Amino acid sequence: MRAMVLEEAGTPLVEADVEDPRPRPGEVLVRVRACGVCRTDLHIVDGELAEPKLPLILGHQIVGEVIEVGEGAGRYAGGARVGIPWLGWTCGECRYCLSGRENLCPRARFTGYDIDGGYSGLAVADERFCFPIPDGYADVQAAPLLCAGLIGYRSLRMSGDAERVGLYGFGASAHIVCQVAVHQRREVLAITRPGDVETQRFALELGASWAGDARGGSAVGEPGDGGLPTELDAAIVFAPAGELVPQALRALAPGGAVVCAGIHMSDIPSFAYRDLWRERSIRSVANLTRSDGEEFLALAPEVPVRTEVGEYGLADANRALEDLRAGRFRGAAVLRPSV
Ligand SMILES: [Zn+2]
Ligand SMILES: [Zn+2]
Repeated sequence: MRAMVLEEAGTPLVEADVEDPRPRPGEVLVRVRACGVCRTDLHIVDGELAEPKLPLILGHQIVGEVIEVGEGAGRYAGGARVGIPWLGWTCGECRYCLSGRENLCPRARFTGYDIDGGYSGLAVADERFCFPIPDGYADVQAAPLLCAGLIGYRSLRMSGDAERVGLYGFGASAHIVCQVAVHQRREVLAITRPGDVETQRFALELGASWAGDARGGSAVGEPGDGGLPTELDAAIVFAPAGELVPQALRALAPGGAVVCAGIHMSDIPSFAYRDLWRERSIRSVANLTRSDGEEFLALAPEVPVRTEVGEYGLADANRALEDLRAGRFRGAAVLRPSV
């Protein structure tokens, strides 16, 4: 099969012919119809995550068609459309797995990190960790639901019943979370890079009540007065920029939470204790559980979540990653290996 392969961190992916994977017992083999590009992929390429398998095929937002099932696998028949997410395997017996927190399993294996992913024509996955894709979503539209959507949804849940939610960094994940939060009758404020008017307009189109930068500058919403127009009950930080954490903390109402949604972030500068005082909190969100996936994929068509995607051919994966780094598209980037 054709694949884009990471041979070494810090180097571009290399297009190569590699041997077709075979489904082992309990696995399905899928033809990859679409594979979303995630910021985590960029962190892996940049060497910011410690121990990926190498060489590695990235990609953990896979929409595929089952073409073969391994011994003992029976959940999906040939022709079924499945989603393969970041969580690829857990041990099922540790204290995390046994308490509904398989996202924290110390032996967990992740797609496109410990297991080859979907920047390729074919992929294999443990069928217990796959999800059926809801009808009504085209392959490319469904792909970003599998990480941007799923982990975004978990982050939103971690913000509790916050009425006013600030989204710091309005990319693939935030553009989905915004729609879910508005559907839940929360108020959404979108915080973008200064002067990114196009993204601010995009956020307003998706139902945000205000869009601007962290200092309150806004070309499209109500003018700020040096801060956001209102205090936040929760701030979800999607951008991998540690300096946003104290900024977001200072934008919180008492009792509010800063939720860091990414797998990697630059160092967080120190801040005064008074910024945390009055029961403000900071937490991270790691990975997903299968029940997050089931819950979110049932909710997405109800909202309904519409994903905005930029499509790339498989061979253009490096360009897709660079466009993601530079923020050159709205919404999410998706590879289409079979085209
Ligand atoms: Zn991801
Ligand atoms: Zn475990």
